[in-house]
Amino acid sequence: MRLIGLAAFAAMVLFAAPAMAAAPAFDPEAATRAWLDTMGPEATARSNRYFEGGYIIAFVGPILSIAISMVMMMLGWAKSVRSGLEKTVKLYFLVALGMALFYQFVSTVLTFPFSYYVGFVREHEFGLSTQDFAHWFTEYLQASAIGLAIGAIAIALLYLIIRATKRTWWIWGTIFAGAFAAVAVMLAPVYIAPIFNEYQPMREGALKVSILQMAQANGVPVNDVLEFDISRQTNRVTANVSGFLDTTRVSLSDTLIERASPGAVRSVMGHEIGHYVLRHVMSILLMLLVLIAITFALANLIFERVSKGERWGVRGVADPAGMPLLFAIISFLGIISMPINNNIVRFHESQADIFGLNASREPDGFAEAALLLSEYRKMEPSALEEWFFYDHPSGYARVRMAMQWKAHEMAAGRYPAGPGGPPAGWRPDFVVMSARPENAPSATVAPAEPAPPASSPAAP
Ligand SMILES: [Zn+2]
Repeated sequence: MRLIGLAAFAAMVLFAAPAMAAAPAFDPEAATRAWLDTMGPEATARSNRYFEGGYIIAFVGPILSIAISMVMMMLGWAKSVRSGLEKTVKLYFLVALGMALFYQFVSTVLTFPFSYYVGFVREHEFGLSTQDFAHWFTEYLQASAIGLAIGAIAIALLYLIIRATKRTWWIWGTIFAGAFAAVAVMLAPVYIAPIFNEYQPMREGALKVSILQMAQANGVPVNDVLEFDISRQTNRVTANVSGFLDTTRVSLSDTLIERASPGAVRSVMGHEIGHYVLRHVMSILLMLLVLIAITFALANLIFERVSKGERWGVRGVADPAGMPLLFAIISFLGIISMPINNNIVRFHESQADIFGLNASREPDGFAEAALLLSEYRKMEPSALEEWFFYDHPSGYARVRMAMQWKAHEMAAGRYPAGPGGPPAGWRPDFVVMSARPENAPSATVAPAEPAPPASSPAAP
């Protein structure tokens, strides 16, 4: 009986398979390869080098902050600052606030060379930055000051909670972190983002009309589609969903409109509309809070062990003198949970990708966008690399998804039949950019052929 059941099941699968996968009009694998080949070996190598450098940076950043924190503990700085504050400002909240300002200020100053390399030198090395030093440094100071002020208030409030709730602080601390993050995300596009960039309604034209139609069809209010001048900082193409509840909006960068074809812009906006419609800000926040709860609980246990017997003069987890130690432990746990964090975000990005394809019906536009993004994201990582470091699907995964979608939609008669792959002669514009003498890794390499303008309306 069981055997018959199995045979019937096998037959079902055998007969069902050809029906499910009706012969695609073109080979999605070959089309994917054709898109990827438009980058050429030189731009591919450059993009790989840039992104792989980011792997080291992802470790060096937290390791550096752990080292600085431990120096503050071991040299007794944390203890003396806490004692000094207790004598002068007295009030516990103010002691915690002062300690948080001191801790963050010292960390910011000591990590400046690292920030300068990552934010300025490296970005210029790879031809991504559009800023001179004065412009970059001004924004760096603004961002650091805002981060210092908001961070210090958040940390001081967290310390009030730690002192009030004692052993269960990690639960209440997580709830506080969630509430604080929600408020911060809600206010950021209104009060923070306009300090660095100008946000305005998207420029008029046929492209805007088609994007607003797509937005409305998916239930996104039209006044929530904005354009911002990221060209002030970088020539990267980008778009995002920001805000929370009433302040949620979809924003696209001026560079995207200028560098990508209308189809590619529509596909990217379909992706962002996906984030909006699927309430990804809320969903990512909730998932990350689980990670934060685990991090706080473990940090509490480790802190108690490490600071046992009033080591470094720390009287317990609620003592602001232990602040650098507590944050060193949290940074350490952050390194370990990095892939979990990335997987939570990539899971949502992948959802937005398929939503965007279905909403925009622009598989070639989406492939083009994936190519433009690979200016700063390695196109073809190993499976382990993608799992560990990627907070978005790789370019390869995205182009393949788009070509797969196109093949099946074509086979079903819902998409006009035609050849796969990029339009003849199309190349991502940064292939040429990389050959500029000041940006090229070696001055002897010349471009094989110039690329047609990426904004050519001929691109699908
Ligand atoms: Zn996204």
